[in-house]
Amino acid sequence: MTLLIDGRSLWLAETNCYVVAREGGGPCVIVDAPDDLDGIAAMLAQHDLYPQALLLTHAHIDHGGGAARVVDQWSINAYLHPDDEWLAADPLSQLRSLIGGVPPGWDPAAFAPPQKWTWLEGGQAVTLAGIDFEVLHTPGHTPGHCCFHVADEGILFSGDQLFAGSVGRTDLPGGSWEQLVESMREHILTLPDDTSVLPGHGPATTISRERLTNPFLTHF
Ligand SMILES: [Zn+2]
Ligand SMILES: [Zn+2]
Repeated sequence: MTLLIDGRSLWLAETNCYVVAREGGGPCVIVDAPDDLDGIAAMLAQHDLYPQALLLTHAHIDHGGGAARVVDQWSINAYLHPDDEWLAADPLSQLRSLIGGVPPGWDPAAFAPPQKWTWLEGGQAVTLAGIDFEVLHTPGHTPGHCCFHVADEGILFSGDQLFAGSVGRTDLPGGSWEQLVESMREHILTLPDDTSVLPGHGPATTISRERLTNPFLTHF
């Protein structure tokens, strides 16, 4: 069985938001929620999908800044690893560290988190919209960063852990290069070579291509 997956690069950080479904006209899961409700709604409308859940790879505002709006709009649960709760709770600090301050006319409260989260746990299997997601807790970019592996389809939503030709930055608050390397070794480089990687920024890739060509992985 194959999945219907669509992705768009949204918001000013060009963050990929994905919708994942068994087929058009049915339930879907949203992976990451940049603050662009219209962009997300357009993707859903294009495939006639209705969301059942929001999975966040991590709580940086370019991935989770629209979470509260998505939760309110579609009355769904938002899933996050608890080690990122502190990040989600403080959009002002995030704006300072990510883009150097609060742009004129912006209100940090617009990125406030949802009223409640549903917590993710590393190693957990979550079935949403008829799709089995394995939660890989991959700290390093942030402490609560998770990748979502759909093993029976050979697909990995890699968030800001792994990109085509690069890896997530570890210089932001809570980041750790040592942890990112450990997460890569333990959870990512152990995946089958033909796994499709859908990252939080930039184009899709595969585990084998990154293993062979990603300059950050060649030292591992
Ligand atoms: Zn990030
Ligand atoms: Zn990002």
